Amino acid sequence: MSKVEITEGAERKFAADRMLGRLVKWLRVAGCDVIYGAHLSGYGLIRAARAENRIILTRDRSLKQKQPPPFIFLESDRYDEQLRQLIRDCGLKWGERLFSRCLLCNSVLQARSKTTVEKLVPPYVYSSQERFSWCPACRRVYWPATHQRKMLDALEKIAAA
Ligand SMILES: [Zn+2]
Repeated sequence: MSKVEITEGAERKFAADRMLGRLVKWLRVAGCDVIYGAHLSGYGLIRAARAENRIILTRDRSLKQKQPPPFIFLESDRYDEQLRQLIRDCGLKWGERLFSRCLLCNSVLQARSKTTVEKLVPPYVYSSQERFSWCPACRRVYWPATHQRKMLDALEKIAAA
């Protein structure tokens, strides 16, 4: 297994192998910058990681024969154990970056005033929520809700296990 040293406070940027969809979702919940897509495996993954100085996350044992940039081989098939490995091996943390990225496309979310999202969200959401943000790339609107609390609880449970 290769270890990647990451200095404290530096932003961790990742490029995830296409088989790591569940892990990617949780990394984005935690606010990590992680790219992911059907084209990201093998040499495509290596090229993308190199172009943006990203650390590769992979389950592909053959990757290291392709002379990749720094990578982390994830030992488990399970996303919760993969997350724990990243917490342990590269000090993955969340905090104020939590829920700061679009879960679908990885863009950084921007705050939106309530009146500007009136036509973009269901009426019950509009009437019950005060704070909104949105993804400038895919235009999805986000608001704090019970599912965010549940996600945070799940994340903390994974980290504590
Ligand atoms: Zn988006």
